[in-house]
Amino acid sequence: VRNVSKVYRSGGRTLDVLQAISLEVEAASTVSIVGPSGSGKTTLLGLCAGLDRATSGSIVLNGTTLDELSEDERAYVRNQSVGFVFQNFQLLPTLTALENVMVPLELRGDRNSRTIAMTLLDKVGLADRGHHYPVQLSGGEQQRVSIARAFSNSPKILFADEPTGNLDAETGETIENLLFELNRDAGTTLVLVTHDLELASKTQRIIRMKGGRIIAP
Ligand code: ATP
Repeated sequence: VRNVSKVYRSGGRTLDVLQAISLEVEAASTVSIVGPSGSGKTTLLGLCAGLDRATSGSIVLNGTTLDELSEDERAYVRNQSVGFVFQNFQLLPTLTALENVMVPLELRGDRNSRTIAMTLLDKVGLADRGHHYPVQLSGGEQQRVSIARAFSNSPKILFADEPTGNLDAETGETIENLLFELNRDAGTTLVLVTHDLELASKTQRIIRMKGGRIIAP
């Protein structure tokens, strides 16, 4: 991430959400981003994952420069190398839990999508909820489905926005273990946004943000 800024424009007003952010995350490392609400953490995570475009500056994701890519091209890069756990899950409401987990696999043309998705749901403790629709799941269960989905394309980099924010302590710990296991066993780079300083302390590096800037390290 080099000299990245993000300006949101709405209702004739402009908001400088990120200001000249530079940052390098080493492959296979674990990093957390912490900071007050509104400091730009989610925005930064979304830009790094190619969900949105920076207003200026440059981002290289797993060797691909995102700056000039179209929406479709960014979606392709994401599907190849990125898993994303959203703060508000973003499950597709018309698909079952199992089908939600299958989406990235189907996009890649994986013939074993159903079997892999079932294994992943089992891993997050939801083997018996595959046929449930998101509205039929609790917040924590939806969170776990979104984590299974993020794992499904064996991402090189996993971005997770408050991955344990909606979970009870026990489920949170299970999810935490899954995230770090993925890093340890598959070398997946882990970039977390969290308000949970205990979780942050388990990552190799903590990046602190305030007012759209990185203040440490
Ligand atoms: P939290 O910890 O509460 O999730 P955050 O640090 O992740 O906060 P962001 O979600 O990145 O913060 O938001 C940073 C600022 O950008 C906030 O002031 C927010 O209101 C604003 N913002 C975020 N998304 C948009 C958008 N799409 N359009 C306009 N403003 C936005």
